[in-house]
Amino acid sequence: MRDYSYCPMCRSPLIEKKMDGRGRLVCQSCAWVCYKNPLPAVACLVPDKKGGILLVRRAIEPYKGKWCIPGGFVESDETLPEAGRRELREETGLTGTAGRLVGAHVQKSRMYGAVLVVGLEFTVEHEEITAGDDAADARFMPENALPDIPVESHRKLIREYLTSRLQL
Ligand SMILES: [Zn+2]
Repeated sequence: MRDYSYCPMCRSPLIEKKMDGRGRLVCQSCAWVCYKNPLPAVACLVPDKKGGILLVRRAIEPYKGKWCIPGGFVESDETLPEAGRRELREETGLTGTAGRLVGAHVQKSRMYGAVLVVGLEFTVEHEEITAGDDAADARFMPENALPDIPVESHRKLIREYLTSRLQL
């Protein structure tokens, strides 16, 4: 991700300053600080009645053509369960109810710096899938026949989910 050169609040040039033990870009005019924080995203762990897991094949970059867990970025006026419910509906046509927190992982992103991926379990009322705009395909897959999943945080969440399910 490229650094800002000018303050997005007042358009003055930014200077690098030592803050909190690290270099940060700070506005000399209005004191705005360029914090670099992970962007929150939600990932939905959705089981079917046979114990499979819902995966979607991405229709857009990054990871176009690859399988991952349904989910996406949280809008600033959404709760995490609302964001997950929206993404699930957009990508698979399924209506889900948010359950427990499965895990949370920060992951580097080529396009967005760092992303905080929060995994939530969702239960669905029915299992008839209609793949949406961002998804080329969506289906429930048995846990012993999962495809290659290139997103590391998603692999971790699936592992955590399957392990925690055994312990419940
Ligand atoms: Zn400024």
